[in-house]
Amino acid sequence: MSKLRFIALEQAASRSIIDVEPPSKRVSDYYGINVFGDEAMKRYLSSDMYKKLKAYVQKGENLDEALADAVAAAMKTWALERGVTHYTHWFQPLTGATAEKHDAFLEPAENGKVIEKFKGSALIKQEPDASSFPSGGIRNTFEARGYTAWDPTSPAFIIENGSSKTLCIPTVFVAYTGEALDYKTPLLKSLALLDKAATAVCEYFDKDVAHVYATLGVEQEYFLIDRALYLARPDLVMAGRTLFGHAPAKGQQLEDHYFGSIPSRVRAFMQDLEIEAYKLGIPLRTRHNEVAPSQFECAPVFEEMNLANDHNQLLMDIMDKVAERHNFKVLLHEKPFAGINGSGKHSNWSLITDTGVNLLQPTTKAKENLQFLTFFVNIIKAVHDHADLLRASIASAGNDFRLGANEAPPAIMSVFIGQQLTEVLDELEHNGNIKIDKGDNMYMKLGIDKIPPILLDNTDRNRTSPFAFTGNKFEFRAVGASANCASALTVLNTIVADQLKKFKIEVDAQIEAGKKKEVAIVDVLREYIKQSKNIRFEGNGYSEEWVEEAARRGLSNIKTTPHALEAYLSKKSRQVLVGNGIFSEVELEARVDVMLHTYAQRIQIESRALGNFARNQIIPAALEYQNKLIDNAKGLKELGLQEEADNLKDLIQEISHHIKVIKTKVDEMIEARKEANKLDTHHRAIAYCEKVKPFFDIIRYHIDKLELVIPDDMWPFPKYRELLFVK
Ligand code: ADP
Ligand code: MG
Repeated sequence: MSKLRFIALEQAASRSIIDVEPPSKRVSDYYGINVFGDEAMKRYLSSDMYKKLKAYVQKGENLDEALADAVAAAMKTWALERGVTHYTHWFQPLTGATAEKHDAFLEPAENGKVIEKFKGSALIKQEPDASSFPSGGIRNTFEARGYTAWDPTSPAFIIENGSSKTLCIPTVFVAYTGEALDYKTPLLKSLALLDKAATAVCEYFDKDVAHVYATLGVEQEYFLIDRALYLARPDLVMAGRTLFGHAPAKGQQLEDHYFGSIPSRVRAFMQDLEIEAYKLGIPLRTRHNEVAPSQFECAPVFEEMNLANDHNQLLMDIMDKVAERHNFKVLLHEKPFAGINGSGKHSNWSLITDTGVNLLQPTTKAKENLQFLTFFVNIIKAVHDHADLLRASIASAGNDFRLGANEAPPAIMSVFIGQQLTEVLDELEHNGNIKIDKGDNMYMKLGIDKIPPILLDNTDRNRTSPFAFTGNKFEFRAVGASANCASALTVLNTIVADQLKKFKIEVDAQIEAGKKKEVAIVDVLREYIKQSKNIRFEGNGYSEEWVEEAARRGLSNIKTTPHALEAYLSKKSRQVLVGNGIFSEVELEARVDVMLHTYAQRIQIESRALGNFARNQIIPAALEYQNKLIDNAKGLKELGLQEEADNLKDLIQEISHHIKVIKTKVDEMIEARKEANKLDTHHRAIAYCEKVKPFFDIIRYHIDKLELVIPDDMWPFPKYRELLFVK
């Protein structure tokens, strides 16, 4: 056995449980202590400045120098009292990870001393030397002048790492020429757009509504692997997923892991993670085992979307750090193990008014239900009209391995709404002349008043749908576990906002023409129900029949990222994204360029890694065993045991065959890479997808066959069964 595998197994078997004590028995005692939230603002700002800050955040009123200086001074005092030495602008570049560059508060003073300093200007804007972040060619790297700018709608927080503490200020990241280079900027733009469009529609129903906010609750799935075993698997280290490994005798077929009792070591990790999350004001609520062995999930209580997304980004970061303390490695890859469930980031999405009404919550009140139906049907219409764009928004190399695999939603976009709502929409569609008898009674006939109690029942759920209505929210399940879900949500917010704008125009025109408001609304909705019917699917999304049925309906099934991304640049997508000011043409093209480039790079890394392990570790291990067999066969022959020697010959030949195919295919794969590298970004991505990636499965097949033949103690890497069954 390779020394590394041996040591790793020994270490993994002898781990102890590291229970971390929370700062206090009651979570409410320490919840949010590391956040410069409302309470801290009140305490550290004068009441005048506090009011000014609130006005700035809520109404977009002016941020003058005096206010910026006051907030910076308050943040500094608050942070210094907590032992913070550095501050950083925290942002979300297109790499997908969060970025920070720490500056000390330190400023040289007279007489050789130093003072702690943090001015308003440093709070508002920074120019990190960020020339190596992806920009899709927008930013001339010689100039390297992208800047970060404070997002006052998401509170500053302190990150603790060992004894070091850093004040993090959420920011957007923008090129000097004004183009966004991050995920946050377009998300904020889409939220503002959606606010405006949804508020305008709410006016039909409730004139008191002044704002509509999108809410987000992210269910984060992940795998936990022992750190030593992880380090002994170079494919996990390089690619974040296994590139080979035969399925273990026991996988998830017994379905005994889902919601099963949580292993003690994992429980200790989760508890520690929750403590860290609570300090940062991340309201984690649920934790449980997922379907696959070693797969888990955590979910917070939903929040306003911008904050919720910052929290998810932060959570992924602290998961990694906390895991280290417990000798675990968190895998956020969408498909770390073949043949076993992948991981998603189910993004639960809804709309809430500033008067506190969830617009996707059906109620027993008829008037509110017309409002519910209005938003509900418009959302379905938006998904129908922009299914390809929505598919593009979740595209990544990792998610390609997950979508359409047996255990994940397919790459076909569809909407699940459940039986009751299907009946409601059917009735609305077919019942041609809804009468209005003094307001409310009309809607009663739709039968929707009976729905809420049924919807709260979990049985009417379809876990195979990429976009499912779950009682009072939509759950976008196709988002990948490692993604910054701002990418998907920016698109979702935008297409829904765009649809609501169109709806408003149509309804207004009919009212103008003399129709009663309610009739106009119902008439337009009825048309939408007809037009968007194709996107609704209530059956098993994992089945082969659905693939065929979807094809008959003319729905796209775009399986790979390079082709999925093309939808961003279609005329229709440009109209909705550029037309609504979410991206400029330049930004959109640059973004697609970055994503294509990232895709090709990831496949390139996997291909190189696979080639190296095959040549440097797998083939040598196979040869070693083969030599033993050859020696053995020779010995048998010497003893005159010809038949026994011949038997071994079969095995020797089998090994030779696998070695030969692996060697040839690795060589061919390298040639394919060379060809791919000559092409432009788009074609390179396609070539990596169609000419390089197919070798992975072939090479893997033969490696996995060798794993079955070669004696266990000669196999260089931890096997699936060793990685997957956490103690
Ligand atoms: P599931 O049965 O799908 O696992 P959960 O009750 O665990 O559902 O909720 C999943 C996520 O949905 C949680 O993060 C929860 O806060 C979130 N959620 C609930 N209501 C809303 C809402 N109105 N808007 C956004 N997210 C919501
Ligand atoms: Mg869910």
